[in-house]
Amino acid sequence: MTIPAPDPIPFSNTYARLPEAFHVRLNPDPVPDPSLIEFNHDLCRELGIDPLSLTPEAWAQVFAGNRILPGSEPLAMAYAGHQFGHFVPRLGDGRAILLGEVVDVRGQRRDIQLKGSGRTPFSRGGDGRAALGPVLREYLVSEAMHALGIPSTRALAAVSTGEPVLRDTALPGAILTRVAASHVRVGTFQHFAMRGDRAALGQLADHVADRHYPWTREADRPGLALLEAVVEAQARLVALWMGVGFIHGVMNTDNMAVSGQTIDFGPCAFMDVYHPDQVFSAIDIQGRYAYGNQPTMAQWNLARFAETLLPLIHSDENQSLELATDLVNSFSERFVRHWIDVMGLKLGLSAADKGDIALIQGLLRAMEQGQVDFTLCFRRLCDAAEDEAEDESVRQLFTQPEAFDAWAMQWRSRLRQDPLSSGERAARMRRVNPACIPRNHRVEQVIAAALEAGDPGPFRRLLGVVCNPWTLGEADQAYARPPTPAERVYQTFCGT
Ligand code: AMP
Ligand code: MG
Repeated sequence: MTIPAPDPIPFSNTYARLPEAFHVRLNPDPVPDPSLIEFNHDLCRELGIDPLSLTPEAWAQVFAGNRILPGSEPLAMAYAGHQFGHFVPRLGDGRAILLGEVVDVRGQRRDIQLKGSGRTPFSRGGDGRAALGPVLREYLVSEAMHALGIPSTRALAAVSTGEPVLRDTALPGAILTRVAASHVRVGTFQHFAMRGDRAALGQLADHVADRHYPWTREADRPGLALLEAVVEAQARLVALWMGVGFIHGVMNTDNMAVSGQTIDFGPCAFMDVYHPDQVFSAIDIQGRYAYGNQPTMAQWNLARFAETLLPLIHSDENQSLELATDLVNSFSERFVRHWIDVMGLKLGLSAADKGDIALIQGLLRAMEQGQVDFTLCFRRLCDAAEDEAEDESVRQLFTQPEAFDAWAMQWRSRLRQDPLSSGERAARMRRVNPACIPRNHRVEQVIAAALEAGDPGPFRRLLGVVCNPWTLGEADQAYARPPTPAERVYQTFCGT
């Protein structure tokens, strides 16, 4: 008797069990010549999948959508959303297919989704495909975010399709395999709220609560508790973004996951020189999603989320509105609390509080005036915390070093009240202030190498570096360097 081999991916799906209004069942569109560009073996094992259970060629077929494995129930999810403030009733997965879910080795349920897998009923005018550049960009940035300790969707694989996609020019096509705690967005709730489908809203809320916030099921008001959980998760998430200079770029409600993970890496970017008004996205003409606007925009999205939950919060409409409004208003305070924690750790404080806001803002103001590189400044502060002589390397970053000198006096006097030894403080700071982020110009360089020379080597090398952001080997020091004026990237594109 032979024991049958286990399925390569142990799917166990729940979203597919939800009623028809939630999704459209369909298979990905096959592609002519799939080939693996990158395959994340560590993540694979974390998902309970043996990366060696299939050959690379067979995995390429799977991650291209050409081969549907047992247990997979491919579907496109329905959702709506506010894009740049305007409501769009019909969005949905126009170029993505959820293959199914797995329960990972820690017992967490995770979605496995293909992005760029062909047209769906939600494609509108689009071709359902993705170009190689944006796929590599999302791969790099989502994995870097995870390595930085920031909740994020992950990248399991990237394949080239062997088929060109037409954008401004013909570009090589690719598909990203994305892993998420779930792909439910604020816009998923909006989809049902807009239809007045109270039953579906309830089912969606239960699904999300079971999956991400099980304790809210036991609360007196589960709908309100769910809102609170999502508000809290987003307040923390955006504070973490702010701490690494991350600009999402398209914080539309369809790009905000209720799980609290960063999702949909389009024109996203890390800033080099600090400025609160920094915007990279070519389509964000008004700067709606500028770095410094992100907390406000997250709160705006959460107000839209709260609106969808009103029927689930209280049977009395006015009471519902009052409870939901208070919670949405609590975002600011929650955000500030997380932001103080994040920034306090960056400055080497073992316990920062409201009294430290002036110190944090003082540095940011000086950095803005002094046109200082965000990542380098905080990284060099780690050295300065250990040895005052290293102040010089920080002050050199400022166009007006006196502004740094004045701030550094206040910082040192604050540090004297903090119990940590300088060695311990510096060590802690080096675990929150990355040596390396995926700088825009580097991302563009490795994409260009893959596109123009067909060479994935530079992409792989950068990926290795940004996945270990807290230390940088001698040979990799160049990755810490900000762009020269000629290398500087001014605009990013979502490439859809
Ligand atoms: P995004 O800007 O990537 O968040 O996408 C916004 C909406 O446009 C979603 O409904 C996507 O599924 C859809 N979309 C983006 N690119 C394409 C494409 N190439 N083909 C079809 N739909 C797309
Ligand atoms: Mg999107």
